[in-house]
Amino acid sequence: MPTQLPLNDQTLVDAMYCTSCGSKNLGRFTAEMLIHFHGLKNIDRRDVFVFPELMICFDCRSAHFVVPQAELSALAQDLPAR
Ligand SMILES: [Zn+2]
Repeated sequence: MPTQLPLNDQTLVDAMYCTSCGSKNLGRFTAEMLIHFHGLKNIDRRDVFVFPELMICFDCRSAHFVVPQAELSALAQDLPAR
């Protein structure tokens, strides 16, 4: 299996292998996502729109995308420390 590269905005564009199973049987797509916060305690939190490029593996069915930094910050804001 190929070495997994650190994710950045260019990583998925250049991906040649699935990071989960190593397959080369990938498809590149664009998507619109609305990410919701989990649980009733977060019902008042604003959802976060993300428009990522997806790489979908047709062998293991996994999908990979990178959350842009601004949207990632919005998701991480006020989350309890893990
Ligand atoms: Zn795969």
